[in-house]
Amino acid sequence: MSNRKHRDNQEICSRKVRELAQSGVNKHCFECNQPGVTYTDITVGTFVCTSCSGMLRGLNPPHRVKSISMTTFSQQEVEFLQNHGNEDTSWVPVCPEGRTPRTRWRTYILITSVLGMPPE
Ligand SMILES: [Zn+2]
Repeated sequence: MSNRKHRDNQEICSRKVRELAQSGVNKHCFECNQPGVTYTDITVGTFVCTSCSGMLRGLNPPHRVKSISMTTFSQQEVEFLQNHGNEDTSWVPVCPEGRTPRTRWRTYILITSVLGMPPE
């Protein structure tokens, strides 16, 4: 692949990610529901706001977070985001047995740290 083609391809991928970030439920942060997403959580394939991206980076192990406007995305990452996104319910965070599978990271961490117990 020539450099030129490679650049074009990157541009297409970045544009696609920006489009995804502006469509449907992806427009609201997956973690806190605030409108306006600026980052993607490549680990689970969701769109999040700036403050939640920091929180996700601080997880142990950290999630891989990428800026929507300042990073280039690979074809695989674009497909991953397309297949997942904020509507996706197939991923399961690490939470104790018997708890709801779709517990958002932030809610989960907040409640566990404040109450010392996982959320219902
Ligand atoms: Zn957020």
